[in-house]
Amino acid sequence: MEVTKIAHIGIAVADLEATKKFYTDVLGLKVDHEETLEDMKVAFVPVGETNLELIQSTTPDGVIAKYVAKKGEGIHHIAYEVTDISSALEEMKQKGAKLVDEVPRDGAHGMKVAFVHPKSSYGVLTELVCKE
Ligand code: ZN
Repeated sequence: MEVTKIAHIGIAVADLEATKKFYTDVLGLKVDHEETLEDMKVAFVPVGETNLELIQSTTPDGVIAKYVAKKGEGIHHIAYEVTDISSALEEMKQKGAKLVDEVPRDGAHGMKVAFVHPKSSYGVLTELVCKE
């Protein structure tokens, strides 16, 4: 497998609009893309070669809402861009990684995405993303 870059750092937030203001008004960055996925809405903030992915739950019992309730707002996952997500998942599985997604699914930006269990990656939820 080939990891080409950190595609984004996912940050779980309680209030997307308030959070966006910090990144735009305080840090001077720009939000370039927003979309709603399943039970969450996301806003991408480009920073050089990578992005921040601000994520707010759209339902009180969504995965992000549960995460924020349990652990508070903050870094939720790191997403690595790979050249071939299906073969990367197969290779990681063979090397003993526990996968959340055995098969890639549709993510933001029309990318294919898959999550690797944080128990396999020493406490950091790991996402693979791929342009397909
Ligand atoms: Zn992500």
